[in-house]
Amino acid sequence: MASEQRKQSTMVENKLLDIRNLETWFPVKRGILSRTVGHVKAVDGVSLVIGKGETLGLVGESGCGKTTLGRSLLGLERIHGGEIFFDGTNLHGLTGNVLRDVRRRMQMVFQDPLSSLNPRMSVLDSVTEGMKAFQLSNARECDEKGLSLLKEVGLSGDALFRYPHEFSGGQCQRISIARALSMRPDFIVCDEAVSALDVSVQAQVVNLLIDLQEKYGQSYLFISHDLSVVSHIADHIAVMYLGKVVEYGSVSAIIHTPLHPYTQALIDAVPVPGKQGKKRVIKGETPSPMSPPSGCPFHPRCPEAETICKSQVPELKSLSGCLVSCHLRH
Ligand code: SF4
Repeated sequence: MASEQRKQSTMVENKLLDIRNLETWFPVKRGILSRTVGHVKAVDGVSLVIGKGETLGLVGESGCGKTTLGRSLLGLERIHGGEIFFDGTNLHGLTGNVLRDVRRRMQMVFQDPLSSLNPRMSVLDSVTEGMKAFQLSNARECDEKGLSLLKEVGLSGDALFRYPHEFSGGQCQRISIARALSMRPDFIVCDEAVSALDVSVQAQVVNLLIDLQEKYGQSYLFISHDLSVVSHIADHIAVMYLGKVVEYGSVSAIIHTPLHPYTQALIDAVPVPGKQGKKRVIKGETPSPMSPPSGCPFHPRCPEAETICKSQVPELKSLSGCLVSCHLRH
């Protein structure tokens, strides 16, 4: 795993986030004594690097561990093992002002824009709450900054004193983005941030995120199950399956020459108008992360599986400028 980490490190310049062998496990408890009988390994040995000003797209089916990974980076889930370095600082055991500053610099935009906003707070209060709590400016300057951010995300000044239920999903997501930006973050986890929106609004919000990145230079971890959306915004893509990264590479490599059978099936599943023909379809359901299959965890569903796949776990290895974990790719 360490060598795999070094390989990806060389692909990304100017690191902001350096995730090393991250594990986030959830205990499974049974019986009246609530004894731990196993673990759900939602994130199981993930190593990734995100550069400054870069967008890493994280894709995979529901339940593959994408959201847990994003939440673990922000300290919203307790990690079982591994290390997270943010701008050179190991996040483990941070306290006091250093932890406070890291929390400010790492923000999140959630999937459901309406429920991520406090229904009792006006838009202005939602956007300025963090700035005021962290005393980034005095109250008047925070309000001015809030107004300017709301204009930047495409909302007019009359939105200031209205409440979240008065806005559409796309507008609420713009407010959430303004709220995240108000903290002057270096890194934002966008967790299925456009999945709940109409397709036309998705494009507007993705373009807004790209424009804001060009202006402020923040990095994104853009989590989505939709490869076509990810390919518009990301520089690199990591594909997750059952808590592990199975392929990593540039957007162009992943979209045009995917190597892993799972990635190939995900690409085939993206509907393209006018394009027909035989598509690779993934069979069956995702296995339980509590008892993953032996060997390659994808083998029960893989159309190319061979005997070795049932017994040996494939390493994530470097191939054609990408990283891929498959016995049959050399
Ligand atoms: Fe399929 Fe085997 Fe490759 Fe796993 S290692 S993806 S089962 S061919």
